[in-house]
Amino acid sequence: MAAPATAIESQTLSTLPGDDVRQVMWRLSDRYDLQMFVQAVRQVARGPVARLVAAGARNTHNWTAEKAELLHHFDECGVTGVFMDPHQGGFIEGPKNVAMALAAFELAWVDAGAATASLAGDLALSPIHERGTQEQRDRYMSLAAPPKAGEDRKPWRGAFALTEPIPYVGVDTGMLSGKVRVVSWEKGLEPMLLVEKRGRFITNMGYANFVTAAVDSGDERIKGSCMIILEEGDPGTFDRGTPTKKLVHQLSSTSDPIFSLTVPASRIVGGYSVKDGVIIPRYSHDEIIAAVFKHTRVPVGIMTAAKLLSAVEPVIRYQRSRFRGAQQAKPGSPRYELGLQVREDVLHRLVDVWSTGEASASLGFATARLFDELDPLEKVKASILEQKGISGRGELKFFKEVNARAVELVQLRTKPVGDRNEKRVAELEADPLVRYAIVDSAAAVLCPATKLWSTGYGATVMREAVSLMGGYGITEDCPGFLGNKWMDAQLEATYEGPEAVQRRQLSVCMGNEVFLAQYEAWVKELRRIAGERPDTGACELASAMRLWLYTYRHLLSATDAEGEKLMQGPRQGVNFPLSDALAWLMGARALVLDVVELADKGGANPVLAEGLAGLVRFYEDLAHVHAARASGEVGRICAELVYGYSRHPVWGAEARKVCYDTTELEELEDLIPGIGSCAVDVLGQGGTHPDKAGPCARCASVADFAALRMKLDQCLTGSRLAKDRAAAAVSKVMIPEALDYPA
Ligand SMILES: Cc1cc2nc3c(=O)[nH]c(=O)nc-3n(C[C@H](O)[C@H](O)[C@H](O)COP(=O)(O)OP(=O)(O)OC[C@H]3O[C@@H](n4cnc5c(N)ncnc54)[C@H](O)[C@@H]3O)c2cc1C
Repeated sequence: MAAPATAIESQTLSTLPGDDVRQVMWRLSDRYDLQMFVQAVRQVARGPVARLVAAGARNTHNWTAEKAELLHHFDECGVTGVFMDPHQGGFIEGPKNVAMALAAFELAWVDAGAATASLAGDLALSPIHERGTQEQRDRYMSLAAPPKAGEDRKPWRGAFALTEPIPYVGVDTGMLSGKVRVVSWEKGLEPMLLVEKRGRFITNMGYANFVTAAVDSGDERIKGSCMIILEEGDPGTFDRGTPTKKLVHQLSSTSDPIFSLTVPASRIVGGYSVKDGVIIPRYSHDEIIAAVFKHTRVPVGIMTAAKLLSAVEPVIRYQRSRFRGAQQAKPGSPRYELGLQVREDVLHRLVDVWSTGEASASLGFATARLFDELDPLEKVKASILEQKGISGRGELKFFKEVNARAVELVQLRTKPVGDRNEKRVAELEADPLVRYAIVDSAAAVLCPATKLWSTGYGATVMREAVSLMGGYGITEDCPGFLGNKWMDAQLEATYEGPEAVQRRQLSVCMGNEVFLAQYEAWVKELRRIAGERPDTGACELASAMRLWLYTYRHLLSATDAEGEKLMQGPRQGVNFPLSDALAWLMGARALVLDVVELADKGGANPVLAEGLAGLVRFYEDLAHVHAARASGEVGRICAELVYGYSRHPVWGAEARKVCYDTTELEELEDLIPGIGSCAVDVLGQGGTHPDKAGPCARCASVADFAALRMKLDQCLTGSRLAKDRAAAAVSKVMIPEALDYPA
C-alpha cells in the first residue's frame, strides 16, 4: 500500500457491513415485517437457489423439474405473495415497492435469473394491479396467491407478453402485430373476441397459466389497442413455443409463445365501454405499460446493485489468499496475510466496485421508497380527477396550476425556518395534488435513472469484479458466481426497456419544472451537507449538479455550427448523454444521503454504536470516491456537449473563440484578424468581442461554463485521499472464514 500514513486514520471499518448497516441506510429499522421477509428470502437464495447454480442447473436454457422446485420455495418464503394485499392472499398492507426491491436484492445476490422468475409473475399481474377492474384484480391476485396452510391449491403463474417477433414490438412498443377481433356479439350478451398474438422472449412462459398480452385492434368494432388477459384453458391455441436459447438468467423460463384464443371482452384490462357499436377499451396498451414499467423497473436496477455488492466478499477472500504459495510467505507476513492486497491497484479497483454497488443500491432503494410514497397519492389524484371529470389533455392543463404551487412549495421548503411563510407551507403541504406533483416528478426521473445507470454502468463494473478474480472469474467455479452475474447484468440492462428507452424517458422528464425546482433544492442541500461533512464528496457533487443544470439550460437555446437547435427529441446525441449524466448524479447523491443517514441514526442501533465512527468514516470515503467518479463523468459529458457542436476555429470560416495561449493567439491574429480579443475573454483575461462592446453571448456563456467546470475540478480535492483510506480499510476488514453459499 502506497497510501501516506498520515492520510489513514485509525478508526475504520472492522467487519463487512451487515443487515444493521443496511437497515439504517435504507430506512428499514422500523420495518420488522420487511426484516423478517429478508431473512426468509435469503434462506431460499443462499440455499436452494445457490445449490442449483452450483450443481450446474444454468447449463441448460430448458425449464427443468429442478428449476420448477424453486417456485414452491418462492411460495413458501413469501416472495410470491409479496405483491398481493392481505385480502388477496398477501401479507403486506399498503405499498410494496420496497418489499419487492428487497426480494430482488436478496435473490439476485446469488442469481438474478431466480430473481427474474419471481418478479416476472408480478410483472404479469401488474397490468391488472395498476389498471384492472376490481373483479379482475380480485380474481387473478387470489388465483396467483400462494396456498395458505392446509389449502390444497396450485397457485396460478403469469407471464407478460409485449415483445413480438422481429420486425414488430421491441424497444418501440407501438409496432404491435398482435390483433384482437370480434368473433361473435349477440344482442344483450358480452362480445367474444379472437386474440392472435405471437410473443418473443416471454418470461415464465414454460409454465404460465395466464398471460397479459398487448394487442392492437384488427376490427373496426374495436377502438385502438389494449392489454387483454388470456388463460390456459381458453378455446383455441395456447402454444408455449420454443425455449429461448439464453446465455443468461437460465433459472427463469423464457420462450416465444403463439396464442390464438377466444375470450370474453371482460378480459380487456380495465374494462371497456360501447359507443355506436364500437368497443372502447378504457386504457390503451401504452397507457397500461407506462403505469406498469414505472414500478417494475426499479427492482431490475436493484438486481445489478446486489450483484456488485455480493462480489466484495469473494474478491477480498481471493486476494488475501493469493500469494500464500510463495516461499517467503510465512503466516503473519504481509504476503501471507494480505496476498494480492499488498498491491494498491487491486484495492483501488475493488473500492470502485464497492462504491458503485453502494450507490446503485442507495439509488434503487431511495426510488423504491419514493414509489411507496407515490402509490397512495396516485390513487387520491385519480379519484380527485375522476370527481372533477378531468382526463386526457385536460389533465395536463389542470396540472399547470398544480405544478406552479408545487414549485412554490419546493422553493419555500429550501428557505430557513423562520424566514419562510409557515402558514403557506402548511396550506400547500395539505394539498395531496401538490404532494403528488412533487413526488411524481422526482419518481419519473429516478426510476429510469435507476434502471439505466445501475444496470448499464453496473454491467461494466461487474466486468471489473470478474477481472479481479483473474482466470477464476470466467469459470463456472468462481466463488460468488461472478462470471454469471456479469453476463446476467446485460439482460438486466436490456429487458423492460434497454438503455435507449430509459434515456428517452429521462430526457423528457428532466424538463419538468417541478423536478428542476427540486433539483435546485437538492444542490443547496448538498452544499449544506458539504459544510457539515465535507468528506462525503457532497461539495464536488453539488458543483457537478450545478454544471449539469447550466449545461441543460444552455442547450435549451443553443444551436450547432449549422444553426440547428441542439435540444430536440430526435437529437439523441445531445439528450441521451445529458440523461446519462443526470443518472450518474442521482446515484452519487443517493449514496451521500444514505451515508448522512448512517452517521445521524447509526448511533441509535446498539450493534452499530460502538464502531460507528470507523464505519461512517469508511462510508464517507466510498461516497467521496464515487462522487469524484460521477463528477468527472458529468464534467466530461457536459464539456463535450457545450463545446462539441461548435466548429473548431482553424477549420471554420467564422472562427472566433477557443483556448489559444497568448503566443498562439498572436500567430492566429495574423491568420484570422479579430479572433484574439474574444478568445482572450473566454480565458477570463479581459478583452472584448471585435464587433461589440463586450464578449458575444456565446463567448460569455462558454466563459461561465469554463468557470463552473474549473470549480468542479478544484472540488475534487481530497477524493484520492479518500480512495487511499478506503483501500486501506478494505485490506484490514475482517471477513468470515467461508462464503455462506456454495461455490
Ligand atoms: C431473457 C429475456 C426475457 C425477456 N422477457 C420478456 C417478457 O417477459 N415480456 C416481454 O414482453 N418481453 C420480454 N423480453 C424482451 C425485452 O424486453 C426486449 O428484448 C427489449 O425490450 C428490447 O427489444 P428488442 O430485443 O426488440 O431490441 P430492439 O428494439 O431491436 O433494440 C435494439 C437496440 O437498438 C437500439 N434502439 C432501438 N430503438 C431505439 C430508439 N427508438 N432510439 C434509440 N435506440 C434504439 C437500442 O440500443 C436497443 O438496445 C425479454 C428479453 C429477454 C432477452
